[in-house]
Amino acid sequence: MTYRAHERRDLGFSTRQVHAGYDPAQHNYAKNVPVYQTAAFEFGDFERSVRVCTTHVPGEMSYSRTSNPTNKVLEDRIASLDGGEAALSFASGMAAIAATLVNLCEQGDEVVAACSLYGDTVTLLADVLPRYGVAARIVEDPDDPAAFEALMGERTKAVYLESLGNPRLNIVDLEAVAKAAHARGIPVVVDNTFATPYLFRPFEHGADIDVYSATKYLAGHGTTLAGLVVERGGFDWACGRFPQMEAFREEARASIPAGMLERQLFTRRLYTRSLGLFGGHLAAQSAFSVIQGMETLSLRMERHAANAQAVAEFLVGHPKVAQVDFPGLAGSPYHALAERYFPRGLTGMLSFRLAGGWQAVGPFLDGLEVFDDMVNVGDTKSYAVYPALATHLGLSPEEQRRAGVWPDTIRLSVGIEDADDLIADLDQALARA
Ligand SMILES: *Cc1c(COP(=O)(O)O)cnc(C)c1O
Repeated sequence: MTYRAHERRDLGFSTRQVHAGYDPAQHNYAKNVPVYQTAAFEFGDFERSVRVCTTHVPGEMSYSRTSNPTNKVLEDRIASLDGGEAALSFASGMAAIAATLVNLCEQGDEVVAACSLYGDTVTLLADVLPRYGVAARIVEDPDDPAAFEALMGERTKAVYLESLGNPRLNIVDLEAVAKAAHARGIPVVVDNTFATPYLFRPFEHGADIDVYSATKYLAGHGTTLAGLVVERGGFDWACGRFPQMEAFREEARASIPAGMLERQLFTRRLYTRSLGLFGGHLAAQSAFSVIQGMETLSLRMERHAANAQAVAEFLVGHPKVAQVDFPGLAGSPYHALAERYFPRGLTGMLSFRLAGGWQAVGPFLDGLEVFDDMVNVGDTKSYAVYPALATHLGLSPEEQRRAGVWPDTIRLSVGIEDADDLIADLDQALARA
C-alpha cells in the first residue's frame, strides 16, 4: 500500500472530501483526524526550535493561535476542494471575512461590494470599517457588471460579492466582474457559503479569494461555528496597488520559502498578521467537527439542491404565495446565469413572498410543524425565517429592499429530509396564512 489519496489533486470531489490533507502516517496512523487539544507545541531539539522561530510556514507549529495539526487538515482539505493554493481557518465566518478585508485594506482604501450581502457583512462594510478609514462603495444593481466597474477607483482594494446572494439568491456575473477588476489590478473576494465548492468553485470563474461561513453547509450539522479563507494563488500583488503586500514580501523573505511566499502571499500575511495579532483561529475541536461534516458534503448538497428545487416548484404555483426567488425556476431572472454557473444544481436556500402580506407571516411561521423558525442555514434540518425581523432588522428599509427583503418575505433553508414531508408541512402552514 502506498497511500497518497491525501495529496492527489486529480481525484474526484467526493474522494477528496474524505481524504485530502490528511496523511495518517503523519499522525500515528490514526485513520480519522485526531483533535490536537493543546495550546502549544514543544520546540523539541534545538534545531527544530531554530526552524520554528525563524520560519513562519504551516507545519512548523509552536502555538495554536496560528497553527494546529487538526486545523491544518481542514485548511488543506478546503484548499483542495476549492482548487486553491492555501487556506486558513477562523473562529467564525465573520472572523474570516473581517480578517480578509483588514488584510486587503488600509486607511483611505475602498471596497466595492454588492448590496445583496449577508446582513452582518453589510454592517461591517457600511458601518464599522468606515470608522477605520475604509470606505464601502455599494453596488446598487449587482445584476449589472458595469455597475461594479463604475465604482472601481484608484483606492479600490477588493471587489466583494456572494456567489448566491442572501436571501434572494441573486447571481452576479462573476466572470464579467472579475475581468473588469483584474484589468485594474483589483482582487475579487467571493463569499461562497451558500454554494460550497461542490456546487460552485469561484476560482474557476475569476475569484481570487473565497471566504466561507463553514458554520453552514460545509459543516452541515449546525453544531459548530467556523470560518475559512482560501487563496487561489497567482494574483499579481506587485501590481502597485498593495504596498502592504510588497512590504510583507520583503520582510518575510528570510522566514518563508520564496516559492510559497510568491504563491500564497495573501495567506502568509493573513497568517502572520491576522491570526498572529488579532487572533480568531478556529478551535481544534471545532476544526474536527467541521471535518466530520465535510466528509458528506457532496451527498448533502445534492439532496439540499433537489429538495429546494422541489419545494420551489411547489411554492411557485401556490395561491398563497406571491413570488418565489429561486434561480432554478425557469421564470427566475437568474435562470440563465444559474444554468451557466450552477450545472450541478443550486443550494438549499430559497425565499418567497406571502400573498397575504406581513399579516400572514405570524400565522404561517406558527403553523409550521417540520420547519423550525430560526436564523441558521445550511443545516441538515429545514428552517424558515422572517428576514425583515431576524436577519436584516439592522438595515434601513431601502437597504432591505435592495437585499430583496420585503415585509412579507420568508426565507427557507431546505434540509435533507424527505421532500414530500417538507412540501406537506408548507402546504398546511400556508393554509393558515
Ligand atoms: C452565516 C454567514 C456568514 C457569517 O458566518 P458566521 O459563521 O455566522 O460568523 C457570512 N456569510 C454568509 C453568506 C452567511 O450565511
